[in-house]
Amino acid sequence: MRYTTIPMVPGPVTLHPDVLAALARDYPSGQVDEAFMPLYTHTGVALGALMGTANDVVLMTGEGMLALWGALKSTLRPGDKVLSVGTGVFGDGIGDMAASIGCEVCKVSLPYDETIGATREALAPIEEAIARFRPHMLTAVHCETPSGTLNPLAALGDLRRELGVPLFYVDAVASVGGAPVEADAWGVDLILGGSQKCLAAPPSMSFVGVSPAAWERIEEVGYQGYDALAPFRNVQRQGRCPYTPYWHGIAALAAGAEAILREGMDNVFRRHAEVAAHCRKRIAELGLSLWTAPDAVNSPTVTVVNLPEGTSWPRWKQALLERDLAITGSFGPMAGKVFRIGHMGTQAHFDLVDAALDVIAGTLHDMR
Ligand SMILES: *Cc1c(COP(=O)(O)O)cnc(C)c1O
Repeated sequence: MRYTTIPMVPGPVTLHPDVLAALARDYPSGQVDEAFMPLYTHTGVALGALMGTANDVVLMTGEGMLALWGALKSTLRPGDKVLSVGTGVFGDGIGDMAASIGCEVCKVSLPYDETIGATREALAPIEEAIARFRPHMLTAVHCETPSGTLNPLAALGDLRRELGVPLFYVDAVASVGGAPVEADAWGVDLILGGSQKCLAAPPSMSFVGVSPAAWERIEEVGYQGYDALAPFRNVQRQGRCPYTPYWHGIAALAAGAEAILREGMDNVFRRHAEVAAHCRKRIAELGLSLWTAPDAVNSPTVTVVNLPEGTSWPRWKQALLERDLAITGSFGPMAGKVFRIGHMGTQAHFDLVDAALDVIAGTLHDMR
């Protein structure tokens, strides 16, 4: 069995060596061991630093979607009003998820190649929708991975505070550790992350920063289930998790987060921004075009490129795989039209992106 040597999929990414080392250890007694609770606590603090929050950080066994569902089900009851801001598959998907649990949902959907406004004036349509609908919760996505965009959230956070929306829910799964996330400054109550993107750990863990207001609401709603946040409130005090914790997964998250903190968050964010700019420049030099609109904010973690003319997604993917490059297509309105290069975490490196772009250049040359 052989795996592709140029991994450029936007999650799961290639594992960080420290993550591999953490996974290779044995943790025989699980949470009974007295080293467990310090590990749980310190992992949450490290992830909180990456998310810009001093709030409690809950660590759950299961990939990002678990946190997305668990945070909604734990804070919403049927009939609650949710306003979802969507600039892509995940943003609108969160609105659909809230509707599926019986909430009354108002979707403010923008084109999937755009990002939300960074100024108060640009947010006028969202302001109007909030003023009219009076939601209990506002939801947004930081990095829309299927579109390759990064939504500015500071102005939206200000707007939400001013209009008094009780809860603000943000999916930052594909940006935590690759771009500045300022959950407390933006006033986010539920900030969501996953292990397999910039943290360079396997698809096994998700985490949620929970504000005091969100905890209050969680107690009120009283949702119970495998994905419920409520039982995690007292993990430290009780010295145990609601179910057997996946120690390897937590240790892997800690290793991924520490590697970022050791390199320095600013250095890591700069590396992502520079590698992404380099990737986009080389794409343009090859005569290819980006999916994103000229005035949208491109994500530093993933680049979405329109398929070269005269090829199809299956043919393009196969041609690249045969040359040892793994990339992905996309979903929703982008499906079959674009390909995605994931330069996040361990994949945000010039030599890797150059190797990928060399393969793309060679493949284009052979096809023409
Ligand atoms: C990856 C990702 C998730 C989580 O999806 P999984 O399938 O659980 O990995 C959620 N939101 C965004 C924006 C993502 O990129």
